[in-house]
Amino acid sequence: MATRTSTFGKKSLTQETSDTPPPINVVKSETTFVKKPKIGSNPGRKREIPEGVWTKCEKCSNMLYDKELDENLKVCRHCGHHFQISARERIHSLVDTCSFEEMDAHMTSVDVLQFKGVAAYSKKLESYQNSTALKDAVITGVGKIGVFKVALGVMDFSFLGGSMGAVVGEKLTRLMEAATDKSLPLIIVSTSGGARMYEGMFSLMQMAKTSGALAYHARKKLPYISVLTHPTTAGVMASFASLGDLILAEPGAMIGFAGPRVIKDTTQAELPPGFQTAEFLMDHGLIDAIIHRRDMKDRLINYLDFLMEGQRQVIALG
Ligand SMILES: [Zn+2]
Repeated sequence: MATRTSTFGKKSLTQETSDTPPPINVVKSETTFVKKPKIGSNPGRKREIPEGVWTKCEKCSNMLYDKELDENLKVCRHCGHHFQISARERIHSLVDTCSFEEMDAHMTSVDVLQFKGVAAYSKKLESYQNSTALKDAVITGVGKIGVFKVALGVMDFSFLGGSMGAVVGEKLTRLMEAATDKSLPLIIVSTSGGARMYEGMFSLMQMAKTSGALAYHARKKLPYISVLTHPTTAGVMASFASLGDLILAEPGAMIGFAGPRVIKDTTQAELPPGFQTAEFLMDHGLIDAIIHRRDMKDRLINYLDFLMEGQRQVIALG
């Protein structure tokens, strides 16, 4: 401690007695050992951080310890930014342990159009199946959330941008039909870039198919809660994701149909600040509540408790 003080004192003395001030870069390089540089202040300098241990927050740029981030359900403890999470992590965060029974786990897409782009669709499917350990962009099944048995569908953005092709549409439709048959409430957690272009019209058909199945579920006076996560857009937002009896969202989620640039070019109008965020859409009445990921399960239980009371009365009346 004494050495450090005296060194610092010497340096100040040198600066005071000198006729010309030292170049700025010299002062900077000599003082960095006492002044902690701000993260992100020197983008040219590489930080030596072991891979797979730390993650940089996309919003506030703070470094987050991966283990801590996982424990915090992948929410930044500094700014509350909600990172994307996989479908399996989401199910784990919502459903009671060991209560989830997956449906149609082995259903896989077929390359009906023989789509050839930069990479063939069949090759893309294979590579995403290997990298994500998923068969397609949604997991469906029945599980328990609190005391409630629910039909739950969770999309995964890491599989081809959560795009909806024939498998996503079919799995969700079967889930909706199972919920209708068994008189179960339905919860779908969405994240999607929209319809899957590799399947052309077959993917667009899924919008009508899922919406139709939801109408049968609604006729039986069963509740459907739609949870929108970052990002939920295009064909998914324009069908089942926006048809919830309750529409919930995670903070900061980007939600919309077309992208802001397309809308701006088409309408030739300036878009308001915050356009297409969950907060903006809540202010304008599309979303019923914005809920932090750590509170989502408890809030779902509260809503189900309220909504299923009506259902119990319907059953009691025969
Ligand atoms: Zn952050």
